[in-house]
Amino acid sequence: MEFISNPCTRCGKERIKGKEKTFFVNSKKTKLTIYICPDKECQKVVEEQLAAKEERRLAFAEKRNRFYPKKKSK
Ligand SMILES: [Zn+2]
Repeated sequence: MEFISNPCTRCGKERIKGKEKTFFVNSKKTKLTIYICPDKECQKVVEEQLAAKEERRLAFAEKRNRFYPKKKSK
């Protein structure tokens, strides 16, 4: 197996194997391995950055949805 370097974007340490996710693509079982930083604190920051990014994306989508008024349930 070929070794592919996958350093952490924050600290540059070589990432380690994290969680493994199994999902189906076109009814074919696909395994996705998530690589994480060996430094727990660093990984936490990276995940927070990702979450912030996702939040901004959702906020943007929300803004666009305002063009199509919906009934408020609450
Ligand atoms: Zn790191």
